[in-house]
Amino acid sequence: MHELSLAMSVREIVEDAAKQNGAKKVNEVNIIVGEFSSVSSDALEFAMDVAKKGSVFEEAKINIKTTKTILLCSQCNQETAMKDYIFKCGACESASVKIVSGDRMYVDSIDIEN
Ligand SMILES: [Zn+2]
Repeated sequence: MHELSLAMSVREIVEDAAKQNGAKKVNEVNIIVGEFSSVSSDALEFAMDVAKKGSVFEEAKINIKTTKTILLCSQCNQETAMKDYIFKCGACESASVKIVSGDRMYVDSIDIEN
C-alpha cells in the first residue's frame, strides 16, 4: 500500500506549511487525487487517519477530491476529459493526446488558524 508513504509526505508538507505560516491549528487539509494517479482515495483516506496522529493537523478534516484526467489534443488543440482510460481526444477522436492533468496526487490547500 503506497498510500501510507504518500500520506507521510502529505504530513511533512502540511507540517512545514503550518510552521512557515505560524499556524496554531490546522482545520482542513485539501488533497487532490487524479483518477489516473494510481492512488486509491479510500486507501489514502485511511492512511491519512494514521499519518495525522500526533501531528499539528491531528484534528483536521481531510478532504480528498478526485479529479478527472484531462487530455490535450495536438490535432484540434482541445482539452477533453479522458473516458474509460482510453487515450483519445473527446472532440476529434485523434490519438495524439497527452495528459495535462489528473495524473498526480497533491496537497491543494490547507486551512489554518493563527
Ligand atoms: Zn482532438
